[in-house]
Amino acid sequence: MSDLRLIPLGGAGEIGKNCTVLEQGDDLIVIDCGISFPHAEQYGVDIVIPDFTYLIENKDRIKGLFITHAHEDHIGAISFLLPHINCPIYGTKLTLALIELRLDDRWKGPMPKMVEVKPGAKVPAGELEVEFVRVTHSIPETCALAIRTQHGIVLFTADFKFDFTPVDRQLTDMARLIELGQEGVLLLVSDSTNATTPGWGLSESAVTEGLRPLVAGARGRVLITTFSSHLHRMQQAILIAHEFGRKVVIMGRRMEQTLNLARQMEYVRFPRETLISMDEMSDYPPEQLMVLLTGSQGEPNAALSQMSRGEYRRLKVHEGDTIIFSTRPIPGNEGEINRVINNLVRRGANVITDAPTPIHASGHGYQDELKTMITLTKPFYLAPVHGEPLHQKAYKEMALAMGHAPHRIFVLDNGDPLELDEQKAWLGKPVTTGEVMIDQNEGRPIEMDKLRARQQMAHDGIVMVTLAVDRDGTMVANPHVEAHGVCGGDDVVPEIQDMLRGAIGRLTEFEMQETDYFRATIEQQVRKVLQAKTRQRPKVLTTVLVTK
Ligand SMILES: [Zn+2]
Ligand SMILES: [Zn+2]
Repeated sequence: MSDLRLIPLGGAGEIGKNCTVLEQGDDLIVIDCGISFPHAEQYGVDIVIPDFTYLIENKDRIKGLFITHAHEDHIGAISFLLPHINCPIYGTKLTLALIELRLDDRWKGPMPKMVEVKPGAKVPAGELEVEFVRVTHSIPETCALAIRTQHGIVLFTADFKFDFTPVDRQLTDMARLIELGQEGVLLLVSDSTNATTPGWGLSESAVTEGLRPLVAGARGRVLITTFSSHLHRMQQAILIAHEFGRKVVIMGRRMEQTLNLARQMEYVRFPRETLISMDEMSDYPPEQLMVLLTGSQGEPNAALSQMSRGEYRRLKVHEGDTIIFSTRPIPGNEGEINRVINNLVRRGANVITDAPTPIHASGHGYQDELKTMITLTKPFYLAPVHGEPLHQKAYKEMALAMGHAPHRIFVLDNGDPLELDEQKAWLGKPVTTGEVMIDQNEGRPIEMDKLRARQQMAHDGIVMVTLAVDRDGTMVANPHVEAHGVCGGDDVVPEIQDMLRGAIGRLTEFEMQETDYFRATIEQQVRKVLQAKTRQRPKVLTTVLVTK
């Protein structure tokens, strides 16, 4: 019997770009293929995807790409993997429909084979078998994956919570989870996003009770911002609008496309006449309007951010508008979100980010829900993923407190293979992983050295030096120096020029003819002056012109 290997290529030690490999013998399956968003210093980066080197090296062994649900952190990178692999994509009906919608935007090649799987169904993948088990989350038809291997069942929870009143009334298949536990779960690979939060999270349907009084009490327009994939949140908001005689405008192409598709497929239900187009907005007074839009994470290009800056032509925020943030900030986005909120307040809007009755509910289980999953499925080994180190550690402590042995809990990082045989589990030799940064205009990766150059220029500016020398190495003109974005740059320019005249005088003819050496020496000297005078490290760029 060959060893079983689980390798997170993304999503371990982070929240985002989920992509995991499970392999045994010749059979390899990929679970999810998502993106994450850049941090503030990844200038010009639009999205971040996993490094697919390992998948490309093993592409002939891939039996399928199995998708747990249609959130961007699980499907967003599929279009970047498609050029390299050729295997079917398995998912539920809604998940596949939303993947196709995204591929229409991002993928120009032939459509991959898509195989619809109903929750509860099993799919053979070589010697492996993948069973889809319905769980509740913040998008319909999310499924955990129970993968039957030669050594036992690997249960991959996907993003989940235990919601007993989900908006679509489709409950987690707890009976099946218990059966799998009785059969024997070898390894539970669990969501750990909310492992630091004690207790039990709110049901998604509780959000209706939070939003209703706010909409009831609003005098003017109500704008509600959430994620474009949050179908149940949108359904609840639209039903409340209907209840209070408001029409709803969906602002943003992606949100509109997602909602329309889900409504046609009957995953969300509301009276069609409640929706109006942006052009029809002017036919209604403010107190009869609700706007649903994205931008809740402070994304600079989103309509909401543009409105906060007064740059959005089709809707100007003013006194009387109520703007409800119906999401929690993704860690790292707080600064941008606050900037948007404060600008909206400056424009006279009443901005609500929290309320006595909650206006958002997490899609991820809190501690007691994570413990319930462990209790139901009785795993032998545990591996928390979909969490930052803080969350993974909290999960481990929680599992220890439940009596699980420390050597059976694996806190994985991206690229760490967890290997298992009949007797034991251990960490194998790491495989290639990393962040591939994508500029969406170019649609291709940005190399690390380019990013470093951008960071250096953004932090400390740039100094450009131009030298004109003849073939003998004699300077034929004064060194030309320009400083851009360097604090104290104007004062330091003459000093650099003086230094250059002296330094070049000390170089031999041979040294000056070795262009690379010459340039490196000059740059080193310029950096020294800059550091001494300004304590900064601007990018230094030297051009040497050799005249005849
Ligand atoms: Zn999710
Ligand atoms: Zn996720």
